[in-house]
Amino acid sequence: MAAEPAGAPTPLRTGLRRDSAFSFRCHACNRCCRHKTIQVNPYELARLAHGLGLPVAEVVGRYTDEGVHLRQREDGNCVFLGASGCSVHGDRPLVCRLYPLGRIVGPDSEEFVDAAPHPDTEGVWGTNGTIADYLDQQDALPYMELADAYFGLFLKLLQAPDGAAAIQPHEMIDIDAPLGEAGEDSPTTVEARAHRHVRRLAARAGLGAEVTPLPSVSRCD
Ligand code: SF4
Repeated sequence: MAAEPAGAPTPLRTGLRRDSAFSFRCHACNRCCRHKTIQVNPYELARLAHGLGLPVAEVVGRYTDEGVHLRQREDGNCVFLGASGCSVHGDRPLVCRLYPLGRIVGPDSEEFVDAAPHPDTEGVWGTNGTIADYLDQQDALPYMELADAYFGLFLKLLQAPDGAAAIQPHEMIDIDAPLGEAGEDSPTTVEARAHRHVRRLAARAGLGAEVTPLPSVSRCD
């Protein structure tokens, strides 16, 4: 297992908003993709599966710990870190897109924290832009929308154990699990399929079709 334990970095700046000054330009030095806990939700698993051309179940088994986090190699490197950087860059999870920012969402609030990148990073970290600019550059918005939807659903399932018990593990992690519904439109984008998955899981658990996003945290630890 990893020799250098990774603690959660202490944020240098908290209470940031989308219009707060921030910039970070990655130079693929590979130092930031080590000893990090990279959480993944069903949308992120589906993006990885799509990019790798593999079934979700195979991605879960080969590259994750129980479908919850990306696996680390013995040296602490992320399982997807290659000699030239991230081998799944186009489909990397949200916390990788946000890094070195973290995002904390409440019922009516959104806050960003800036934890600073690895101290020896070759990336350029500064204030030459805004967080909104950075989110656009990282194509983070669809990831944030679905992270909020899945967090909202999962928290409601914790409060409805009988409903949660009606959902099988593979149905929880595979956005295309049929969940017993037929005759529904078949969306083609991964994003639309993930939103359908959230609706189907909520219906299966007896929560109704609408799931209101609830507090969530997206951050590398
Ligand atoms: S998925 Fe890619 S960007 Fe994220 S930690 Fe792994 S190698 Fe780094």
